[in-house]
Amino acid sequence: MSEETIFSKIIRQEIPTPLLYQDDLVSAFRDINPRVSTHILIIPNKLIPTINDVEDEDELTLGRMITVARKLAKQEGISENGYRLIFNCNEHGGQEVYHIHMHLLGGQPLGAMLSV
Ligand code: AMP
Repeated sequence: MSEETIFSKIIRQEIPTPLLYQDDLVSAFRDINPRVSTHILIIPNKLIPTINDVEDEDELTLGRMITVARKLAKQEGISENGYRLIFNCNEHGGQEVYHIHMHLLGGQPLGAMLSV
């Protein structure tokens, strides 16, 4: 049994983080520590700790995360200029919260893909 993170409390609205989007499969809210002018997290409602734990039955949920990203990017007015979607996995990937989440980043030029 995986341990819940603060993201489960946000999904259940046990802490008052405003949701930008929620349906039966996914939720979205603004990152508490935005790295760029638009920084949104899109997460599955189901606790999946890392991308390594994704199962075949999660394909619909993972696809929903992308369509929600597309809608939120349009809503935020960043679709045309462009944006970046990122999943971090485990230590080398820089993952801090062990409930998978897709970062939607944009609103300004994002520069090179990586600076290692
Ligand atoms: P990662 O490094 O990919 O695991 O990213 C975790 C992200 O979650 C970071 O960008 C944090 O700023 C963000 N974060 C952590 N706690 C919260 C919270 N309570 N509300 C919103 N974002 C959070």
